[in-house]
Amino acid sequence: MDNNCIFCKIINNEIPSKKIYEDDDFLAMLDIAPATKGHVLIVPKEHAETMAELSDEKLSKILVLAKKIINAMKKVHNFTDYNIIQNNGRLAGQTVGHYHMHLIPRYSVDEVSLWSPHENDPSVTSDMAEQVRKLL
Ligand code: 5GP
Ligand code: ZN
Repeated sequence: MDNNCIFCKIINNEIPSKKIYEDDDFLAMLDIAPATKGHVLIVPKEHAETMAELSDEKLSKILVLAKKIINAMKKVHNFTDYNIIQNNGRLAGQTVGHYHMHLIPRYSVDEVSLWSPHENDPSVTSDMAEQVRKLL
C-alpha cells in the first residue's frame, strides 16, 4: 500500500468506486472518466507503478482475468470489439502511478484514437531488430 496512491486507497475502500470484480489479487472497476461506455480498469492489489515492477505471477494472471471480464461485459453492453491498453510511464499517457489495464469496448461510433502510422525506415528498423534480438 502506498499512502499517496489513489488506486491503493480505492483497493483499501478509503475512496468509493464502482467495483465489478474482486479477488485476493485484483480489483476491477468502472473507469471514472470512460473512453467509451463500459470502460473497465483491472488493478492489481499489489502496488507496482508500471509493468516492470509488477510480479510475473500477477502479470501472468491479469490477461486471463481480462478475457473473463470482457466476456461478461459483452453480455451487458452491445459490443464485440475492444481494446486492451496498458500505459507505462508519463510519456505513454500513464496518469495514475499504480499499474492498471484498460478494457475499452469499441462501438461503430466512438472517439477513441490510438496512434497514426508513419512511413517505415528499413535501415533503422533492421538495426533495432538486431540489437534487441541480441538481448533476448
Ligand atoms: P492512465 O492514464 O494512468 O493509463 O489511466 C488512468 C485511468 O484512471 C483514467 O482512465 C482515469 O479516468 C481513471 N481514474 C483516475 N482516477 C480515478 C478514480 O478515482 N476512480 C476510477 N474509477 N478511475 C479513475
Ligand atoms: Zn497503489
